[in-house]
Amino acid sequence: MPSHGALFRPLIIVTACLLILTTSLNAQQQPPTSPTNKTQIVLLGTGNPPADPDRSGPATAIVVNGNAYLVDFGAGVVRRAKAAVADRGITALEPTNLRVVFVTHLHSDHTVGYPDLIFTPWVLGRRVPLEVYGPTGIKDMTAHIFEAYRADFESRSKQFAENLYTVGTFPEGRKVNAHEIKSGIVYKDANVTVTAFPTKHTMESYGYRFDTPDRSIVISGDTNPTQATIDACRGCDTLIHEVLTHEWLGKRPDFHNYAARYHTTTTQLAELASQAKPRLLILYHASIAWRPVVDSQRTRPEELLREMMTRYSGHVVVGRDLDVY
Ligand SMILES: [Zn+2]
Ligand SMILES: [Zn+2]
Repeated sequence: MPSHGALFRPLIIVTACLLILTTSLNAQQQPPTSPTNKTQIVLLGTGNPPADPDRSGPATAIVVNGNAYLVDFGAGVVRRAKAAVADRGITALEPTNLRVVFVTHLHSDHTVGYPDLIFTPWVLGRRVPLEVYGPTGIKDMTAHIFEAYRADFESRSKQFAENLYTVGTFPEGRKVNAHEIKSGIVYKDANVTVTAFPTKHTMESYGYRFDTPDRSIVISGDTNPTQATIDACRGCDTLIHEVLTHEWLGKRPDFHNYAARYHTTTTQLAELASQAKPRLLILYHASIAWRPVVDSQRTRPEELLREMMTRYSGHVVVGRDLDVY
């Protein structure tokens, strides 16, 4: 018969693990930040297609010397940017300051905020065109959005002419310069060099590496594990990577084939990160929900963290909307 000690030991270990995981997640809760010249990563949206009120559609901001660079424009992107101003004090993310953006691929969960990003900052007074870099098709998507909102433009132009509005009067601020890219350096200015690398998803897709004066940041977009991601990072400062849990996949056999070809499990990401060796690994676009009431089938964040920490010994965090790193 086992002693009481032997019976309780597993319980103590499980409790200790839960405490560590809960502490890790709580440590991620962040206060407002003060203005800084250092590069900041602001997670504007860490979600995926489901309409999760706690996780906006995929959108990430890299802020360097008061300039904002976005990756993807999922649902809610402009309002999350304003939330980063209001709740985190990051004035670089005032909607009128949003003017350079990189798109990983043209799936709707990553692009459904595009009209918002074109028109809302313009109405609010953006004076310069939006510069958009992305795969083949981004030019067509842009042209179709302008066509779809023709009535809005005609109506607002008339009203601006009548001086009914004091803002939104800068025609340049409604323009978009859409650039269709290939792998390699796609953008460079005084703050940042941005390099695109191919990823493996259901369509033409890219990840991006940002080199700033103080950091190197790699973001995966949606992808199967690729050598290109490992090569893009190679000891980088921060890797932001998508991930699916085994726990969720266990409940969704219908998703197995698709996931095996086009996404990344915790086991695969642990392997990839062990080779890429980022100082910090941020999990985003994960198969989780922060609250069971939103989606009881999706994995709890602490379970995602447990899956990663049992497989990967590096520094890893579960990204949450409006986290700043
Ligand atoms: Zn996606
Ligand atoms: Zn996708």
